[in-house]
Amino acid sequence: MSSKRVERFAPSPTGLLHLGHGFSALTAADGADRFLLRIEDIDRARCRPAYVTALFEDLAWLGLTWETPVLRQSERRAAYDAAVARLTELGLTYPCTCTRGDIKAALSAPQEGAPLHGPDGLIYPGTCRHAGRDAEGAAIRLDMARAVAITGPLQFKELDNPDGPNGTVTVTPDHMIREIGDIVLARRDIGTSYHIAVTVDDAEQGITHVTRGQDLFTATPIHRLLQVLLGLPEPIYRHHRLIRDDQGKRLAKRDDARALRAYREAGMTPAAVIRLMAP
Ligand code: GLU
Repeated sequence: MSSKRVERFAPSPTGLLHLGHGFSALTAADGADRFLLRIEDIDRARCRPAYVTALFEDLAWLGLTWETPVLRQSERRAAYDAAVARLTELGLTYPCTCTRGDIKAALSAPQEGAPLHGPDGLIYPGTCRHAGRDAEGAAIRLDMARAVAITGPLQFKELDNPDGPNGTVTVTPDHMIREIGDIVLARRDIGTSYHIAVTVDDAEQGITHVTRGQDLFTATPIHRLLQVLLGLPEPIYRHHRLIRDDQGKRLAKRDDARALRAYREAGMTPAAVIRLMAP
């Protein structure tokens, strides 16, 4: 039985696409039977329609084509709410009213040997876990210890990680609790989160291979966990190398000198820009 390889590129329209985004999109599209685009615009305050238009133009200029209609996360709130509601039914969530300042203060006397930062920043010390807060206006967090008590160790298949683990990657419950912790599933300001949206939409779009930058490798155990808890299919992962600037720093959206558009306006051809992505 031949199975189709379905890939996606999922930019957030918070700035112009740079070389690194171009590389990511081309890597995902290369060898895909179906290539999908997804606009990750859950954070409306940071996203701009003009950047959506610009990214369509820039990707087309690079020679990419994708299926339409393009999924926009800003239209998918009901599906994200349903996923969080399911986790709540399973007894795996709690409302949290802590501000970043509260979390910092609670962590000011860290336990010896406990890591301070996880993939989402400071690892939540659990202040609201048993506080019985009202969900109204609160963030919703995942109770990681309860979640991994259901899933046990997690596994995913990694095909392309340049200097990390490859093959079958196993993540222990202890890692999930200590190094990731009680992540936010629904932010107070936007009502959802990257982790929920990406997991629900990779399933909705039937993505078989998730190709993205190595910077997201540490988020993958979270996505795998949510897939298991929500009964969603398991994609294969490829976390490709990052394109860095001359100082070795990875490119950021504000790095406009390396925006695909800047090269194009300077008269470079797509082929010449693609050559800049070589290691
Ligand atoms: N929207 C994310 C970003 O622009 C990528 C999400 C993903 O590929 O999982 O960094």
